[in-house]
Amino acid sequence: MQTSAVLRVDLAAIAENWRALARRAAPGRVAGVVKANAYGLGAEKVGAALLAVGCQHFFVAHLAEGMALRAALGPGPMIAVLNGFAPGADADAGLLPVLNSLGDVAAHAAAARSTGRAQRALLHLDTGMARLGLDAGEQARLAADHALLAGLDLLYVMTHLACADEPEHPLNAAQAARFADACAGLPPLPRSFANSSGLFLGGAYASDLARPGCALYGINPTPGATNPMRQVVRLEVPILQIRDIPAGASVGYGASWVASRPSRIATIAVGYADGYLRSLSGRGVAAWRDMTLPLVGRVSMDLVTLDVTDAPGIQPGDAVTLIGGAATSPDDLAQRAGTIGYEILTSLGDRYRRDYGQG
Ligand SMILES: *Cc1c(COP(=O)(O)O)cnc(C)c1O
Repeated sequence: MQTSAVLRVDLAAIAENWRALARRAAPGRVAGVVKANAYGLGAEKVGAALLAVGCQHFFVAHLAEGMALRAALGPGPMIAVLNGFAPGADADAGLLPVLNSLGDVAAHAAAARSTGRAQRALLHLDTGMARLGLDAGEQARLAADHALLAGLDLLYVMTHLACADEPEHPLNAAQAARFADACAGLPPLPRSFANSSGLFLGGAYASDLARPGCALYGINPTPGATNPMRQVVRLEVPILQIRDIPAGASVGYGASWVASRPSRIATIAVGYADGYLRSLSGRGVAAWRDMTLPLVGRVSMDLVTLDVTDAPGIQPGDAVTLIGGAATSPDDLAQRAGTIGYEILTSLGDRYRRDYGQG
């Protein structure tokens, strides 16, 4: 009997999502954002699948993610590290630091001048996130003194949208205007602007290089409208046991659910240690055949319980679908858990058997 859960990642769907975004962004180009292990799905597998369909630009968050991706993809594609890294820290792996402050600019420019080798990099301007990137004062100082860039080979100047998933939000246009103004003060450079949702805001946002992440993985980049992306992830979890309990019996920690009628309870092999969030206690659902089964009681570390009283014929060993069915997309689950699809995906644990065939 199958006792562990299977996480199916449809690489062909990810590739198709990338192609759809590439058509939308044309003539601009489209990168693949594969930070946080490709949003939990496996950066090396996802990176190779994207490379195979023509993606030549990748973004990760951490240096270690970039090193692993370089080893997996070989020397060809651009790999940029959003959080930056110290000069030389990539040990000739050819990673590009994203320069997030004038201090970063100075450090990499000085190292490049001392080694006599131009340092390829991206320049990040903050236009409304107050997180990373040169702030307005730093942008003005750089505009006044382009010599600060000597030694750097900047492939792109980038900025990041704060509210792209809210098309009507005034900050979108404000950021576009600030970005255009800041770029006008710099030497002419290719621009990188839109994330996934930004690609659906209109042509100007696509820029020379869009940086979608979530949409590649099936998260809806247009919340409130039909999801234009293909679903990618399917989590199938086996039933370990089914038991009958009388009315009045409680299920799980805290005895938080009490049967109001004689009930059948199925225990399945997943828990919050696998990224099935504890906040889904009493809120999650599982799909079995054409039925939707309610989760009852608390999510434990390794186990979840379902009320299968109304599912005749269900048996131990059957698999239920926790992510990927009609009612259980990552976005649906996120809504039930009070979070966003990004957190559902990046929380996926490493105890699943991962299957990268077509879903
Ligand atoms: C994560 C990230 C992206 C991708 O955003 P999505 O909303 O997942 O498309 C793009 N750019 C930067 C700077 C990011 O941090």
